[in-house]
Amino acid sequence: MKILVTGGTGLVGRSLQQIMPNAIYVSSKDFDLTNLRHTELMFDRYSPDVVVHCAAIVSGITENISRPCDHFENNVLMNTNIINFARRYNVKRLIAILSTCAYPDVASAYPIKETQLHESVPAATNFSYGYSKRMVAVHIDACNKQHNTAYSYLIPCNLYGEFDKYGKNSHYVAALIKKIEETKIYDGDSITLFGDGTPLRQFLYAPDLAQIIKRCIETGITTNFNICSHECYTIDEIARIALKACEAEHLQIKYTNKHLNGQYRKDCDNGVLRQLLPDFKFTSLFDGIKKTYEHYSTNTKHRQ
Ligand code: NAP
Repeated sequence: MKILVTGGTGLVGRSLQQIMPNAIYVSSKDFDLTNLRHTELMFDRYSPDVVVHCAAIVSGITENISRPCDHFENNVLMNTNIINFARRYNVKRLIAILSTCAYPDVASAYPIKETQLHESVPAATNFSYGYSKRMVAVHIDACNKQHNTAYSYLIPCNLYGEFDKYGKNSHYVAALIKKIEETKIYDGDSITLFGDGTPLRQFLYAPDLAQIIKRCIETGITTNFNICSHECYTIDEIARIALKACEAEHLQIKYTNKHLNGQYRKDCDNGVLRQLLPDFKFTSLFDGIKKTYEHYSTNTKHRQ
């Protein structure tokens, strides 16, 4: 079975490389998937049986606010090209990665279930990214209905892990780890975080997502489902867990710019996952941050 992974240089792609070394991994340096011709060339060259579509423009809150059009255009083009060519090249299995950012800003019930995806609009802070992800579900559902394909999508919560980005596009946990390490090195006494620490978040260790993707391929699971553990904390609680995991409990936490809180909550239900993979054990947030921090602090080159 020939497995092709797009976004092979990303956080999820590199986590997959650790456990599926024989798959084919591509990045934007190989094929620009916003480009129709490049996408066709890729399918032509590899004729994959299975495609795991991880390529995307993924950013933190500031970039999502300042570059909404880039997030929408690039992601919609890539996703549309991939789903379209997967079908034309008779790909048997396509697994696309959505995000809980696609869910409503304010849901009618929490934790959010898969059936609530189209209930109301995504959060203003990631509106265009959220819709670009939601359109993947629309496209895949339509493709399955009309063309009898067995394509599916997984909906993970926020991710972090060894191969994360630490530049201006970084997410909360990566930015937190970087701040903690720099404060330790320069002998500071506090870290400063955006917002006021109250929003609720779920974070998933990227290698756990990679394991679940692998199991979906191996066992032929084609259900669409949320991927998150039972751990759901406030931003402040996550910062305290990180301080402990990074052995920096002496540092104080300060908050600035409470307008940058982002969505208040988007905690998701993992009941479908529990039914499909009842034995799956998630890495705890403490252990995952500890491993990620150890990797960060012992490597000098970090992805930006
Ligand atoms: P990432 O680390 O930012 O990596 C993005 C990948 O996409 C890179 O390999 C990049 O290639 C590739 N890419 C970007 N533009 C491309 C283009 N025009 N053509 C071809 N490839 C392109 O992303 P990630 O965190 O691994 O995310 C993987 C998936 O999970 C995405 O669908 C994302 O939406 C979803 N997700 C992520 C999170 C999170 O917190 N990170 C949470 C939920 C869901 P280059 O390295 O060459 O640029």
